[in-house]
Amino acid sequence: GPLQECELRNLAELGMGNGGSVMKVEHVPSGVIMAKKIVLIDAKPSVRKQILRELHIMHSCSSPYIVSSFGAFISEPNICICMEFMDKGSFDSIYKSIGRYKSNAQRTSGVEESTEGPIPICIVRQAVKRVLGGLVYLYEAMGVLHRDIKPSNILLNSEGQVKLCDFGVSGELENSVAKTFVGTSVYMSPERIQGSDYSIKSDVWSLGITLIELAHGCFPFSDTEVDESPSDSAAPSATLSLTRRSQRKSKGVSVHGGVGTLSILELMHHIVREPPPVLITPSIPHSKDFAGEAAQFVDYCLRKDPNERPSPRELLGMSWMDDEGRDEEMDLRKWAVTL
Ligand code: ATP
Ligand code: MG
Repeated sequence: GPLQECELRNLAELGMGNGGSVMKVEHVPSGVIMAKKIVLIDAKPSVRKQILRELHIMHSCSSPYIVSSFGAFISEPNICICMEFMDKGSFDSIYKSIGRYKSNAQRTSGVEESTEGPIPICIVRQAVKRVLGGLVYLYEAMGVLHRDIKPSNILLNSEGQVKLCDFGVSGELENSVAKTFVGTSVYMSPERIQGSDYSIKSDVWSLGITLIELAHGCFPFSDTEVDESPSDSAAPSATLSLTRRSQRKSKGVSVHGGVGTLSILELMHHIVREPPPVLITPSIPHSKDFAGEAAQFVDYCLRKDPNERPSPRELLGMSWMDDEGRDEEMDLRKWAVTL
């Protein structure tokens, strides 16, 4: 039968985003552990029902690269979406915790510079391949775009599975979320910033930015020098943190090779006007060890003209995505258990 709120027992808070929070819950009758996303919405009852209808599409998703859905219900004034619990969390919290661990280790061992990023590039490669699988599935089998690709919407479990969550099945939900910053994301493609329609190519841009962020261990439009304070997260993952950072007395958020601080509007301007970020850059010393085919893959994702950007299916055909003949010391499952 349909999921009932009274059958769910709260276990822990998993995280908080712009639009709501996510709780780890137990579905008591079945003993199944789930992640319950609570979204505060500002909508009339008729619109709420429409949102529930739209969310129903999630139910028919069946892919190893998409979190499965257990159902959604209204719990005034919120909408709750129950999905598969991914026990290793999202890639943003993963890379941020590795970053802290690494810098502590470096401090005690006196090592100045690490040759590896927070997320090893071979792991980034394998994760990106799953993300592309998810995008192809959503687009080709479900006819939907993801619309919110970023590290916090890419989840990992201890089996080494990588799955996408928070994809745009419900246009009405997107319209109704009571967000502070509506529809502004630092992962947005140049054409989106300029008001063009969303396309699958916009998801590809966001994937390119995400890839650099995971491999570098910091958001590509932020300067590594401002990431010294240990109390702060390694990188801004949302508009809000960018704004907060730029208000600090330090240099604020600056751009690779750029000077001064950037507000969110300046960042949007920068994305539209300047050349896209690159994977191999002198400001990230360990990036010099990345393969040329990885750098080329990123360059394709971040072509500023969406018509020159490959589709997810085309990207799956690029050499960096080919598993053949790779001597990778880690697979996702082995790596996941070390976290
Ligand atoms: P934003 O609101 O800007 O999209 P976000 O993606 O971080 O940011 P939420 O979608 O509310 O915000 O998610 C909050 C956190 O909950 C995520 O960062 C992730 O770590 C965790 N989370 C979300 N879904 C799951 C899940 N199915 N299993 C385990 N953890 C999850
Ligand atoms: Mg999310």
